[in-house]
Amino acid sequence: MKVSEELTEGLEMSRSWCRVKPADELVLIPVQKSCPECGRAMRIRYTNRRAVVSLRGLVCLRLKIRHCEDRTCGRYHQAWRPEAEGALALPQHEFGLDVIALVGPCATANTAACRKSIASSTGAAWRSASAA
Ligand SMILES: [Zn+2]
Repeated sequence: MKVSEELTEGLEMSRSWCRVKPADELVLIPVQKSCPECGRAMRIRYTNRRAVVSLRGLVCLRLKIRHCEDRTCGRYHQAWRPEAEGALALPQHEFGLDVIALVGPCATANTAACRKSIASSTGAAWRSASAA
């Protein structure tokens, strides 16, 4: 057994390949500037980073998050995320909606041509559970 195999033994669930540096970075800012409940201005309080695999490659999203700072408001300290984020990827998902739309029909077919098409489109090593 090689040293590299010993190090990865028992880590089958972890990613065995390095993620590519993001090819693109998008900064998303919420369009809504006032609180929908109390009408007061919501300032940008912090930035979240998120990486999404899309058909363009790996995209780094920098998300500006707003908060209502009125303690009497029902939306006090609830995050208001950029609206455009929902058009790019589902919450807590690694792949963008464009990839999911491509994979959907192929997932039922599960052919080698589909797997190759997805891997070449995303630029990532994609393995199906049946190939592992
Ligand atoms: Zn408010």
